[in-house]
Amino acid sequence: MKDEFLKDLIENGFDFLERAIQQFKTEPKYSVINFCAAIELLLKARLMHEHWSLVIATKNHPNIQDFKSGNFKSINFNDLIPRITSVSGEKISPEIASCFKELANHRNKMIHFFHEAHGGKGKEKLLEEIAVEQCSGWFFLRRLLENWSDIFGNYDERIQSINSSMKGHEIYLDTIFEQIKPEIEKDKAKGTIFVACKRCKRNASEEFKKTNNIFEYKCRVCLFLDELIKFSCLEESCNGEIKIEPGDPDVKVICSSCDSVMERQDIANLLETNASRYEDSVQTNCATCCSLGTVVENDGGYFICTECFYFTKNDIGYCEWCNENQIGGGDLEHSRWSGCEFCDGQVGHMKDD
Ligand SMILES: [Zn+2]
Ligand SMILES: [Zn+2]
Ligand SMILES: [Zn+2]
Ligand SMILES: [Zn+2]
Repeated sequence: MKDEFLKDLIENGFDFLERAIQQFKTEPKYSVINFCAAIELLLKARLMHEHWSLVIATKNHPNIQDFKSGNFKSINFNDLIPRITSVSGEKISPEIASCFKELANHRNKMIHFFHEAHGGKGKEKLLEEIAVEQCSGWFFLRRLLENWSDIFGNYDERIQSINSSMKGHEIYLDTIFEQIKPEIEKDKAKGTIFVACKRCKRNASEEFKKTNNIFEYKCRVCLFLDELIKFSCLEESCNGEIKIEPGDPDVKVICSSCDSVMERQDIANLLETNASRYEDSVQTNCATCCSLGTVVENDGGYFICTECFYFTKNDIGYCEWCNENQIGGGDLEHSRWSGCEFCDGQVGHMKDD
């Protein structure tokens, strides 16, 4: 049962996606609506792969007969990613969630106020906007589909063909790039550094140096945000520069100039710029990759996990139950009661008794 429903859902999702791309120039309004529908269906397929009842929004018990007859209210668009995370434990980056949310907002606006947008800005401007938005949406969706190869592995060809049909959108990215080129040249002359954008590949991603090791990027064409940790190779005789993308706890840090592997402890020693804080012997853990004591403090109040290289300035808290710090775990206001990523708080303690 599950397989045939799932297959239908996936086929449907790809249909909407292909339709959206075809309609992009001729019927932008329907392109936006169908693009969103496609994302919705493919995320639902991810949920249905776990269990059919997860795509149902009901507060009552999900009913298999209702499901089979299509007689049910399905889960809200904005609940899809949180539900995927909560049932599969898979962490989906907040950029992806916010990109999809923006697409949905735009869709709602299009449905209600299309004439306004269309008349006010002119069609070309509107197409530029939609092109950027769909390029972002597809960039993230494709990444998810490729990660979920056990569900979407059979659709590789279709994914590739959608990827090439997105080329029509590229022309609009070129237009934007041409428009802002004079401004980029001017800023370059003033010392601003631009690198190639990972998403749109244009040389328009502005570098923001946060500390000697932490760099953030924002593309002026497609608005893609990116981050890097950088430092010089730890081999004395080597002038290589190490660049690490945050997020992967299994990443092997290798210098591309001399091929040496950098040890985590050496990286930690280098990135730690406030070693004196250890005098109070409170360690900082990383909730993002579930590692204990791997977090160091870098300049400017930034904390970096030397396992997965997640970094943050604000997302740090102190657990009032186990008396340790953690980053990447959000609010710890009620930690005395409910604990942190690494302990069960008073609740867990009471259960044990
Ligand atoms: Zn870009
Ligand atoms: Zn090196
Ligand atoms: Zn980590
Ligand atoms: Zn704790």
